Amino acid sequence: MALALENKVALITGGSRGIGRAIALEFAARGAAVVVNYHKSPEAADEVVKKVQEAGGKATAMQADVSDFKQADALVKFAIETFGDLSILVNNAGITRDQLIMMMPEADWDAVLDTNLKSTFNCSKAAVKHMMRKRTGRIINIASVAGQMGNPGQTNYSASKGGQIAFTKALAREVAARNITVNAIAPGFIDTEILDAMNPDTLEAALKMVPLGRKGKPEEIAYAAAFLASDEAAFITGQVLGVDGGMAMM
Ligand code: NAP
Repeated sequence: MALALENKVALITGGSRGIGRAIALEFAARGAAVVVNYHKSPEAADEVVKKVQEAGGKATAMQADVSDFKQADALVKFAIETFGDLSILVNNAGITRDQLIMMMPEADWDAVLDTNLKSTFNCSKAAVKHMMRKRTGRIINIASVAGQMGNPGQTNYSASKGGQIAFTKALAREVAARNITVNAIAPGFIDTEILDAMNPDTLEAALKMVPLGRKGKPEEIAYAAAFLASDEAAFITGQVLGVDGGMAMM
């Protein structure tokens, strides 16, 4: 099979719903053992694990708030102890708390930066320790077009995603000598529950800026992640792959 992930162990943060769920299912279908991290949705995470196991794959779930350094560290250790390795880390967990800056509470700035960006540091730091020893690994950060183009009402979210992109490039340079690749995916508008918080008129107007004229599907992000996680992508690092219907052409 092209882009096979057999004998790989993947940890997907926020693997219970939306894009993370699709990535967990796609990786498992390609042969990876998957650790499905969740925060507040145990039933959804269990459903992903059950689906993988029913198809003959290996999966387990673990609750952790990845914005918390200690919980993120424990999560990575759990993945390594459960399946004996960690070959792929997908930093996918994310939230929005949209508001114009004049009205944005400090707490909403902190929550978004901690959940989207600090989590990426927390989990990557723990994973890199293991990957450096093994001299191989893949880190994939799920960023956003908002981190490339900016979005009004999303100074917190855009900053967190732009930060993830800069983090991707810096870490890619830092760990390349150990054969670890670090890349980002920048999704455009993808049909998940995260869009429910968006004003429908704003969403409709935003979709007019998408050359392909539609929202993406979570599976379309998962295919891109499977490519970046595969052996075939071994010579790609420090890149940002836009999966956005052509919205941001860099
Ligand atoms: P979603 O459907 O709302 O799912 C978010 C996931 O993140 C859930 O599994 C949630 O887990 C998890 N999560 C949230 N806070 C967490 C925390 N503190 N610790 C661990 N897990 C946490 O959102 P989505 O659309 O799939 O988004 C996934 C990623 O793609 C995010 O980083 C988002 O910014 C990015 N993205 C999405 C879009 C889009 O249009 N959908 C566009 C660009 C980028 P629980 O449910 O268990 O709490």
